[in-house]
Amino acid sequence: MDTPIEPNSAAQSRDFPPSRAEALRRLDAFLPRAGRHYANERNADHGPERRGNVSVLSPYLRHRLLGEQEVVASVLQRYRLEQADKFVQEVLWRTYWKGWLELRPAVWARYLETVESDRTRSRKDIALRANIEAAEGGRTGIEGFDDWARELVDTGYLHNHARMWFASIWIFTLRLPWALGADFFARHLLDADPASNTLSWRWVAGLQTAGKTYLARADNIARYTDGRFTPRGLADTAEALVEPPLPAASTLALRPQPAADTRALLLAHPEDLDPLSALPAGLDLRAAVLITSAADWPWGDRARAFVDGACADTGQRLQQAGLAVQALGAEAATADALADLAAAHGTDALLTPDAPVGPISDLLNRLAPQLQARGVSLTRVRRDWDSQFWPFANRGFFPFRERIPKQLRALGLG
Ligand SMILES: Cc1cc2nc3c(=O)[nH]c(=O)nc-3n(C[C@H](O)[C@H](O)[C@H](O)COP(=O)(O)OP(=O)(O)OC[C@H]3O[C@@H](n4cnc5c(N)ncnc54)[C@H](O)[C@@H]3O)c2cc1C
Repeated sequence: MDTPIEPNSAAQSRDFPPSRAEALRRLDAFLPRAGRHYANERNADHGPERRGNVSVLSPYLRHRLLGEQEVVASVLQRYRLEQADKFVQEVLWRTYWKGWLELRPAVWARYLETVESDRTRSRKDIALRANIEAAEGGRTGIEGFDDWARELVDTGYLHNHARMWFASIWIFTLRLPWALGADFFARHLLDADPASNTLSWRWVAGLQTAGKTYLARADNIARYTDGRFTPRGLADTAEALVEPPLPAASTLALRPQPAADTRALLLAHPEDLDPLSALPAGLDLRAAVLITSAADWPWGDRARAFVDGACADTGQRLQQAGLAVQALGAEAATADALADLAAAHGTDALLTPDAPVGPISDLLNRLAPQLQARGVSLTRVRRDWDSQFWPFANRGFFPFRERIPKQLRALGLG
């Protein structure tokens, strides 16, 4: 049964305590609204004090303090899939974007290069730099846009619709480089994600679905912000940006499951902060190494502080599960340090939940051959959820969406 209830308190929108207990508490509080209420109300941005129409779970899902599978399973314990299909689909947009990028890692590399070259250009072009500073500082004079820029910096969160409007105005009204807009989001969002952020900006710009753009309109903004904002002077057309052709989608790297009684050191990291639930049962885990954040990651201080808090919470939970835990900053997680720790715990195997495209995956890719040279194996374990869904992210979202009921059944859900 779907019960509309009071919006979340201001604290839930402004304050994101970085713990799994908080993620579970939020999920529990949201479940009564995950059915028809969400379907009817989710598009409204009532402002940072009133977020009761959405789940505000994204920072927790982003780092898998809470998994997509357990969120969807909880929803489907309460509703039939048809009753909660909108919410389930939104969670699966996240899965889709992750899978899409996993099949095309070159798009992430191209984004990082574009940010670098656009930054260099904006350092030389004084007018461009001033326009970017005005946009980031909420000083363009465009109602709504300026408010969202400040809200993003103040809270680390924006409603989905505000993210779409903001990106559209950045690209088509202000005519600023899309990658620097995505970078502004990445530096301030608590849920900053290589796939959801980069690919959503590309989608607004008309790069993701070639030729299809998203145009922000004043009447739509006024309607879905309860009349708080009616910006003037917005672009009335949105011509798609263009780019050189993308490489074809690859197939997913194979990730064989470890044997049930493997003796290993667990390598935990911020891409999956509920690591024991990612691994098969029956392993002989000797201890855990927990990689925390790195200074050169492409997200900002607020997200880094969230990650560090969430890592501390994960470390405590691993200890409660009986594992000795050693935390290592990403820079200190060298092959030598890890091989020595493995040897100290009587094993030559490291097991880690898989990390999707992004800096942790890059780190694991660098470490694997170096560890192998020291006689230590590094096995990345992919969650069943990702194995079920990612292969179907090879085309658009609509064919992917068609697969949802079948893939959920394969996971024992729905
Ligand atoms: C330009 C732009 C940039 C974005 N950048 C990010 C980002 O860096 N990280 C991020 O997690 N999401 C991003 N999103 C997606 C979406 O805006 C957020 O996930 C959502 O607003 C988070 O709020 P919520 O948890 O209350 O969502 P809810 O509406 O309650 O949805 C539940 C969950 O489903 C997932 N989800 C919902 N909508 C989307 C979507 N459109 N795309 C992908 N996943 C979705 C999220 O994990 C979310 O927590 C972006 C969207 C746009 C348009």
